[in-house]
Amino acid sequence: MNLKSTIIIIEDEKSICNFIETTLTAHNYKVITASTGQEGLSLITSCFPDLILLDLGLPDIDGMNIIKKVRKWSMVPIIVISARTQEQEKVLALDSGSDDYITKPFGTSELLARIRTALRRHQQQGGFPAQNEPVYSYDDLTIDFSKRLVTLKGKEIHLTQIEYKLVSLLAQNSGRVLTYDYIINHIWGPYADNNNNQILRVNMAHIRRKIENNPAEPNYIFTEIGVGYRMRESRQQS
Ligand code: CA
Repeated sequence: MNLKSTIIIIEDEKSICNFIETTLTAHNYKVITASTGQEGLSLITSCFPDLILLDLGLPDIDGMNIIKKVRKWSMVPIIVISARTQEQEKVLALDSGSDDYITKPFGTSELLARIRTALRRHQQQGGFPAQNEPVYSYDDLTIDFSKRLVTLKGKEIHLTQIEYKLVSLLAQNSGRVLTYDYIINHIWGPYADNNNNQILRVNMAHIRRKIENNPAEPNYIFTEIGVGYRMRESRQQS
């Protein structure tokens, strides 16, 4: 893998833009920056980036519109750069087709991990037939999808059918946040009602009691408050 991935940063805050540019350049990415939405859009069409880092609050175009525009013709991974309090915005951005988000202020390792995950997922989907990793593995937790077998420290964990569906959905998308709506649609179908939010929370509590050492400080499945859940990235996949 000598080919550098090209990343476009669309961010009007100079200091954040510089920080990201320096970090990514140091980690062998090719970086192109834009400080307005218009400039960003024209760079996206001319430079064929491998990934886009997008601030939603731009001076000229709403970042959400950029996501929608790009998604009409490209599946290039988009990671949204978002402020801490804007949960609703994060959900909207994810549901509009962005792949992930990162909350300001963020550290180098978090940024790099998000980028690696998004690039890897995109390469898997683009380069090969849709094929998920056969096994999820992190720390003591292993999920063998073909056997539908979940083990913790080598001991089988008994999950209900719904619990298994939830865990395997999160594990197949490990490293990536899934919104509550996305999860509910996938587990209960598009006609699910509001009660499913509550049912989802209850099931997640049960799962945590079964797989987490301390459910209050989870090691495998994290709550992204107001947005959804994210499962720790599988060791097998990185
Ligand atoms: Ca901004």
